[in-house]
Amino acid sequence: MLDVCDIHVMKPLLAEHGFHFSKAKGQNFLIAKWVPEQIAEDSGVDETAGVLEIGPGIGPLTQQLALRAGKVCAVEVDNRLKPILNLTVGEFSNLEILWDDVLKLDIPALVKEKFPGLRPMACANLPYYITSPILTALLEAECFETVTVMVQKEVAQRIAAKPGTADYSAFTIFCQYYAEPEILFDVPAGCFMPQPKVTSAVIALRVRKTLPWQIDNKEIFFRTVRASFAMRRKTLQNGLASGFPELGKAGAAEVLTSCGFAPTVRGETLGIDEFAAIANEIYRRKQNG
Ligand code: SAM
Repeated sequence: MLDVCDIHVMKPLLAEHGFHFSKAKGQNFLIAKWVPEQIAEDSGVDETAGVLEIGPGIGPLTQQLALRAGKVCAVEVDNRLKPILNLTVGEFSNLEILWDDVLKLDIPALVKEKFPGLRPMACANLPYYITSPILTALLEAECFETVTVMVQKEVAQRIAAKPGTADYSAFTIFCQYYAEPEILFDVPAGCFMPQPKVTSAVIALRVRKTLPWQIDNKEIFFRTVRASFAMRRKTLQNGLASGFPELGKAGAAEVLTSCGFAPTVRGETLGIDEFAAIANEIYRRKQNG
């Protein structure tokens, strides 16, 4: 197996195929072998797993996943990598590469078709320019056991943030609604070619099998969360009043009071259970006209 993280292997390989990195496609390739090894190891992938990898690049993580998994399906948007991946991962019979934009795929249908009888998992060193849309698609697919990804460290901190901290955001709640996050380890910029400007981190999202909160209407719940963070430095009463104009300021205050909150409470201090209570109260009022 070619050690594609060894720059003495990688550089001539890329040069031979006239390959130049595309910044627009978020191409920062791993040049430290311990990183893909550690990601694959920590992801819990084994022969019972069907793994969706996004952006194999020249295949460092693909190799490690294919060594462990029942099946790997890797989605790569850059056709220029075809001949290189042929050389670096062509030997794996449990690997299928799809030449496509992951954001255009029907992920639940793909998982059903490619991984029958296997535990679906997602694992990737993500292209950073589309981290949020990819994570959104992977979590909303509601078909993976775990999603283990490398992202910018600040994004990992945002995903795993606690209420009341600067990193806590609507995206935090979105991710924590679907999964329990755990930041596994940092990856310095020097582990990539070309080097990104930021430190990266690997985060594991263990997808919830059941929700620990009673949420009566998912759409109202996420609308409540978005309204609460849209006006971050304003009170929750004002946020809710502008996110739900039908409530008005007085109605927003009533919702908060009936859930036991002062109208001056700030959304960024509330946990998911508290957003759930507020959203359920808004939903109840809507149902009652
Ligand atoms: N896995 C390789 C590694 O760790 O060295 C490459 C990771 S690089 C950060 C991101 C990869 O995602 C690139 O190979 C890039 O071409 C690919 N990519 C970018 N946008 C994509 C998209 N929309 N769908 C699928 N792959 C994409």
